[in-house]
Amino acid sequence: MRMYDIITKKKRGETLTEDEIRCFISEYTDGKIPDYQVSALLMAICLNGMNDEETYALTDAIAKSGDSVDLSEFGELSADKHSTGGVGDKTTLIVAPLAAALGCKVAKMSGRGLGHTGGTIDKLESFPGYRVDIPAQAFKKQVSEIGVAVIAQSGNLAPADKKLYALRDVTATVDSIPLITSSIMGKKLPSGARSIVLDVKCGSGAFAKTPEDAEILAANMVSIGKRCGRKTSALITNMDIPLGHGIGNILEVKEAIETLQGNGPSDLTEICISLAAAMASLALSIPFDEAKARAEEALFCGAALQKFKEWIGAQGGDITLIDNPGLFPKSVYEHKIIASRDGYISAMDAEAIGICAMELGAGRKTKEDEIDYSAGIMLNKKTGDKIAVGDIIATLHTNRPETFSSAEAVFNNSLSFSDIQTEKTKLIHKIII
Ligand code: URA
Repeated sequence: MRMYDIITKKKRGETLTEDEIRCFISEYTDGKIPDYQVSALLMAICLNGMNDEETYALTDAIAKSGDSVDLSEFGELSADKHSTGGVGDKTTLIVAPLAAALGCKVAKMSGRGLGHTGGTIDKLESFPGYRVDIPAQAFKKQVSEIGVAVIAQSGNLAPADKKLYALRDVTATVDSIPLITSSIMGKKLPSGARSIVLDVKCGSGAFAKTPEDAEILAANMVSIGKRCGRKTSALITNMDIPLGHGIGNILEVKEAIETLQGNGPSDLTEICISLAAAMASLALSIPFDEAKARAEEALFCGAALQKFKEWIGAQGGDITLIDNPGLFPKSVYEHKIIASRDGYISAMDAEAIGICAMELGAGRKTKEDEIDYSAGIMLNKKTGDKIAVGDIIATLHTNRPETFSSAEAVFNNSLSFSDIQTEKTKLIHKIII
């Protein structure tokens, strides 16, 4: 089978066979096909799409390109969640212990942040001592005893996706529904959970800019998950505005702790309760509304906070910080963004706010960049809020004061104002159970 012929077929809009897709993935993973040919095929897929059979074959080939985790000892109880990526998205820190408090077994592998979106592993490393690479047996023992463990994605989980994603990132081929579907599900399937809940973000800070695109992406992933024998649900949630108020690793961890204490921002609290409820509904085979009522109870009675402490402690993290978040390191420098007009914030560009946080040091521009854990943004005002001259809209935090001027420019450009109050956008567009 010649790669040239596969590229030509997709360029003409024809359908690739399962054999062609398997061959391309296995040879590319083994380093037998050069990046320039794969780039050409990726672009052809971006432009001409893939049908359901091709997307399934691509997902399956990616999923089988490396190791897989066996969670069969947890039976139907193993549950995972995945977010398609957003700004201020600290949901895993809350949802994982909340779902564990409901009886799910959450054996989760997460990634690091790159670009304008953050990564759960970076946030967890804000706890001094937290181990992200515990051995497989210890990982499963912790899940069995506590109900939750979160580690960094194994080096050989879906290696085909690792290579493809790096190439897509630099060839403008990320925003393709079959490619996103196969990339995400190609990692989730070998991660082993019986139930998978997808948080598909839509809006300015997400890959899917409209609820319609997000719904197509969600339906694709749910259908692939089910076809592969996993119980799969999706929530389509808003990412026009960052989630919560904190953006940046320690700022987000502190907000997650407040949320687990029952005092979090309402948007973050609502999404976390719904995600945990969707996981419990699938894993425990109970109606979503019943799972939601149980999730609210577990969050507000402190059961999820207790699980969080057990989890972080079991992985070596300093849990005194959970009772005393004031002990987390603070950035040396702060800069306030002050309103220069009266009116309302009519829109915020979530992606630009993510880029602003990255400029301050909270994220990486390249994989090699060092993170400044205390850097980031605290938003005092969000879309729909009233402002008056002199109000603090946000505070920028960094240990690298030279970043303030460019970060402030990016932040100011992300805001739009109006004289009249605009309608708030819906937080959860749809739940696909
Ligand atoms: N996240 C992934 O893991 N892959 C994509 O293609 C997009 C988001």
